[in-house]
Amino acid sequence: MALKKQFAVIGLGRFGGSICKELYKMGHQVLAIDNRDHKVNEFAAFATHAVIADSTDEKALKSLGIRNFEYVIVAIGDNIQTSILTTLLLKEMNVPNVWVKAQSDYHHKVLEKIGADRIIHPEHDMGIRIAQHLHSEKIVDYIELSEEYSIVELLATTKIHNKSLVDLNIRAKYGCTILAIKRAERINVSPLPNEIIQQGDMLVVIGHKNDLERFEEEGM
Ligand code: ATP
Repeated sequence: MALKKQFAVIGLGRFGGSICKELYKMGHQVLAIDNRDHKVNEFAAFATHAVIADSTDEKALKSLGIRNFEYVIVAIGDNIQTSILTTLLLKEMNVPNVWVKAQSDYHHKVLEKIGADRIIHPEHDMGIRIAQHLHSEKIVDYIELSEEYSIVELLATTKIHNKSLVDLNIRAKYGCTILAIKRAERINVSPLPNEIIQQGDMLVVIGHKNDLERFEEEGM
């Protein structure tokens, strides 16, 4: 299991709220922050601590000891000015990892300039994943690594059931690499060449987008 980390989530809307609940469920220490008391009350049961604070108030952030958190997620989307000021304060306090939800390209550019460590566009990113899923029923999940490279999770089709990885020779034929095979609850990372693909297996494959598309269309 991953090491337990300390997180603070600022803004408990749908995005920040989901992050908070999920991290807490995984057993991490999560400080949930919002300036609306009903949000803080709602999250008291889904975080280690839930506090009312205005994240643009430097003193309030300092008194929460925010600089000691390894990760702070700024999940304020609607008010760009608030999001930017919060990020600026956190970076000035040397928080090592500040991940921020961005709303527009302009917002993204400013966040980049002031040192946000990761900028997330949830609707845009989710839209791409859903489109990939709709594009091909074989694609169960999709992660874009760069303009050219991706990782996809593909449901093994009957065409490749009961065949070993060495038989399929995917790397030589398509230039893609199988990173893992998911079978029921188990994940086999770096499967051996003699591993046999079974019905219901999910293949986690990395490669150039063109190669992945070719593998998905012709190889399975
Ligand atoms: P989502 O799209 O994630 O559901 P939302 O549209 O509900 O978000 P946003 O305006 O993006 O709401 O803000 C997310 C949360 O951030 C809200 O619960 C809001 O109360 C909180 N928030 C806004 N400004 C501050 C602030 N200065 N300090 C702390 N929390 C804030």
